[in-house]
Amino acid sequence: MTAHGPVAPLWLCAACSAPWSCPTRRQQLLHEYATTPAALALYLSSYYVAASQDISWAPAGTLHRRFLGWLP
Ligand SMILES: [Zn+2]
Repeated sequence: MTAHGPVAPLWLCAACSAPWSCPTRRQQLLHEYATTPAALALYLSSYYVAASQDISWAPAGTLHRRFLGWLP
């Protein structure tokens, strides 16, 4: 497990308080899902859907970039 998990409803990192996913967690996720990138996209998509309900005032494009747009 990682300390860099998201804290709803603002979806900030529990460890470094950056908007999740923080740079540290992104590196961890890329490593953990190195052989299963489709599973990583599904995992992040479920977070994106939940976050877009919690942060309903944010433009969808902004949240999409934050949760999914950083994937290689
Ligand atoms: Zn973090």
